[in-house]
Amino acid sequence: MDRAKSLVIVGASYAGVQLAAAARELGFEERIVLIGDETHPPYQRPPLSKGLLTGKTTSDQLALRGPAFYEENRIELMLGRRAQSLDAAALAVRLDGGEVVEGGWVALATGARCRSLSVPSHDLEGVFSLRTLDDAQRIAAAAAKARRACVIGGGFIGLEVASALRALGVEVTVIESQPRLLMRGLPPTMSAWVDQAHRQRGIEVLNERAVRELRGAQGRVTGVVLGDGRTVECDMVVLGIGVVPNDEIAAQAGLAVDAGILADRVGRTSAPRVLAIGDVAHMELPPGPGTPRRMRLESIQAANDGARAAASLLVGREQPSQAVPWFWTEQFDLKLQMAGLALASDVAVVRGDMASDRFSVFYLRDGVVAAAHSVNKPAEHMQNRKLIAQGARFSPAQLADESFDLKASAPIPKTP
Ligand SMILES: Cc1cc2nc3c(=O)[nH]c(=O)nc-3n(C[C@H](O)[C@H](O)[C@H](O)COP(=O)(O)OP(=O)(O)OC[C@H]3O[C@@H](n4cnc5c(N)ncnc54)[C@H](O)[C@@H]3O)c2cc1C
Repeated sequence: MDRAKSLVIVGASYAGVQLAAAARELGFEERIVLIGDETHPPYQRPPLSKGLLTGKTTSDQLALRGPAFYEENRIELMLGRRAQSLDAAALAVRLDGGEVVEGGWVALATGARCRSLSVPSHDLEGVFSLRTLDDAQRIAAAAAKARRACVIGGGFIGLEVASALRALGVEVTVIESQPRLLMRGLPPTMSAWVDQAHRQRGIEVLNERAVRELRGAQGRVTGVVLGDGRTVECDMVVLGIGVVPNDEIAAQAGLAVDAGILADRVGRTSAPRVLAIGDVAHMELPPGPGTPRRMRLESIQAANDGARAAASLLVGREQPSQAVPWFWTEQFDLKLQMAGLALASDVAVVRGDMASDRFSVFYLRDGVVAAAHSVNKPAEHMQNRKLIAQGARFSPAQLADESFDLKASAPIPKTP
């Protein structure tokens, strides 16, 4: 084994672990070192805002891979170690404590961290962000004693936390600065449905409200003061106001960075043999009508598929991911699954009754199914992913007609 050819991965979560696993699957035989600054063995994040808060999932069910996986695949896991800097020319990573790990490849899979709230008294006790298992355990402990909670930010994580806290009997107010919930992730029809679903299940939703400051007593949060002067009283606050990519090491090393590390479809950055994958990578997307050139997708699917693509580069059989982006969220009794990237300009067609909480919304772009959102219809979601990948064409009337079998009707491929 040639140490100079080894793979050094910074960030031991979805992207980092998947890269190590896929590299071995594809026959990469050199040394693999996986460095992560958290002390827990790599774990699943989605349950942190779902089952772990409600108690349906316990922390011992979260391991991303069993302990034998790392040993069997000869992956050297260095936990609780932080990479301080990268020398991109030497392919050398300097760790806290001064140790230097050199490789033939360096992969940056450093993910993202929570955006902080910059208003007066934002650092009171009882104010939480959620990214890690430790964060989730702190929120769960606070929720057990709380009567009223404010969730600041009506994105996926904020809404999942709101529904979990409500399920625990906590009174919850969601405060969103934009005119509608999930403005970044969903088109207006779906935002309106999610908004209604939360209100019906006992959440107070305040859209288009700025947060002016947090109020506290004896160092603990007691309320959120809004731009209009109203104070929403609470004994805990959870922030869900987005994330910022952990791209500082890359920027300091001189890599091209713009709201994430710029990477092509196999994770190549501007520095030779330095890769970027997962939430930290501002990665190119497969070209398609209306599709942005690059995006940080912030999903498990994007982290896993990006890592597999990067592994293909390591073994000299470059294969960019063609996968249709997909994502899911669970709020109350609702499982919303999203496939493809819907644009505001798409024609939205509802299949089923939105009031029944079991339906799909299709998004047609130039007559082609470009994206679909399904609620409590997992089989339809799987089918929709295939239709999108195939570039299926249906008329709005066919999509809206539940008696019309989309699966059986051979889709007419995209015109070139
Ligand atoms: C509460 C929650 C719920 C979610 N739910 C869903 C969901 O339902 N569906 C879905 O698709 N996605 C979901 N996501 C998003 C998903 O978890 C992320 O897209 C995914 O974790 C990205 O993986 P990653 O490996 O790129 O980054 P991360 O998971 O962020 O991991 C990066 C790791 O690198 C470490 N690190 C950073 N800098 C350094 C350094 N200098 N040295 C060493 N280590 C470092 C970090 O501490 C971290 O452990 C959720 C995320 C959260 C937080």
